[in-house]
Amino acid sequence: MTPPPSSRGRWDVVVAGAGPAGLAVAAACAVRGLRVALVAPHLRPWHQTYCLWADELDAATTALAGPAGGPALGARYPATVVRTSTGQRDLGRGYARLHNDVVHGLLLDQFATGGGVTVPGTVTGVQDDGRQVTLADGTTLTAGLVVDARGGGPGSAQQRAWGERVTGDVGDLVPPGSALFMDWVTLREAAVPQPPVFLYGMALDDGTTLLEATSLAARPPVPLPHLRDRLHRLMAEAGLRTAEEPEKVAIPLDAAVRRGAGVPVGAAAGLVHPATGYSVATSLRTGAAVADAVLAGADADAVRALVRSARRRATLGLFALGREVLLGLDEEQTDTFFSTFFTLPPSAWNAYLDTGSSPADVAATMWRVARALPPAGRRSLATGVARAVRPRSRAVTA
Ligand SMILES: Cc1cc2nc3c(=O)[nH]c(=O)nc-3n(C[C@H](O)[C@H](O)[C@H](O)COP(=O)(O)OP(=O)(O)OC[C@H]3O[C@@H](n4cnc5c(N)ncnc54)[C@H](O)[C@@H]3O)c2cc1C
Repeated sequence: MTPPPSSRGRWDVVVAGAGPAGLAVAAACAVRGLRVALVAPHLRPWHQTYCLWADELDAATTALAGPAGGPALGARYPATVVRTSTGQRDLGRGYARLHNDVVHGLLLDQFATGGGVTVPGTVTGVQDDGRQVTLADGTTLTAGLVVDARGGGPGSAQQRAWGERVTGDVGDLVPPGSALFMDWVTLREAAVPQPPVFLYGMALDDGTTLLEATSLAARPPVPLPHLRDRLHRLMAEAGLRTAEEPEKVAIPLDAAVRRGAGVPVGAAAGLVHPATGYSVATSLRTGAAVADAVLAGADADAVRALVRSARRRATLGLFALGREVLLGLDEEQTDTFFSTFFTLPPSAWNAYLDTGSSPADVAATMWRVARALPPAGRRSLATGVARAVRPRSRAVTA
């Protein structure tokens, strides 16, 4: 389909991709009166279970719906529980699960009301110094700015999870009213060494409970059948039954930034947290900032620098170092690491979970964890840092 040309034959902004990052930018641009085309293969609501902190949901609600709010953009869990071999603790920071249909509907509505035009299709290239987009069907669109929200590449390290929506009495596996953020105890199986895997879970709106066996970060990624089998053994022991199709999670943690002529946002910009895999809260907040900059006349380089500022790149670099250290830890060391991590003051561990934190705050947290670890944990951390900063051996020699 050839879209109708904008009034001057050129779009202010063409957005490629309608995940959370692309749709947030497209809606924010349309709301501000910019002429926007959104190219996407389809506009179905996102199927992933997207979670974020409750305060991030508040910030997203204000950013998307204004201070008066609107329909609830997510379900809230007042308590967020972490379980390690040293015990169970409520982190004291509420958790939330996005209502994808509501958020998706709200953004699409804003987009359409602001005059945005959807172009069904697939982008195959961005040319002319980021001013022209080509689609698989041969259509070309000309724009002042092209935003690349096509998601990230596969990467070599991934977070993986196998999730089941279960029926039956979950007992204290997921304490009532809480989100189980990380449980490093329940899926441990004594017999053989296994990759570090934690249980993640929360009650869903339909009365079922989502349980996920999750590998936080692994290179190569942990095979999904391994995660499935560990979760299924737990379910069999607890008498839980599967209610629906499983959720299979694979989040690249070290995907390269898309370097084409467009301005990347979201996963395409490498803004998935390199150690935890989160990005949705950041993407929902970033739409407005990008749109404001475009409206103020910022060019592609200026918007790129806004999305991936030097400060943010430094922060991401520290998270990547943290990920490399985690990759080297076995189950017991990982359990020790998180037992220690969550005894830090909330401001310290929160800094480590947010890609918007300053590099100084993140470095301070890393230093505090290192100091708080028992001697054996500190040794594994030091080994991990040494491995992470060691230059990779070269494939070609003189
Ligand atoms: C199962 C799962 C669960 C996750 N859970 C969480 C979570 O709880 N919290 C969190 O913060 N993060 C989570 N993540 C990680 C991350 O935040 C998501 O991957 C998020 O979807 C990234 O958003 P995005 O908009 O940048 O990219 P994507 O969501 O990947 O969107 C890219 C879009 O671009 C489209 N596209 C691709 N190629 C083209 C093309 N050539 N032309 C046009 N369109 C194209 C795709 O169809 C897609 O719709 C999860 C990831 C997965 C896979």
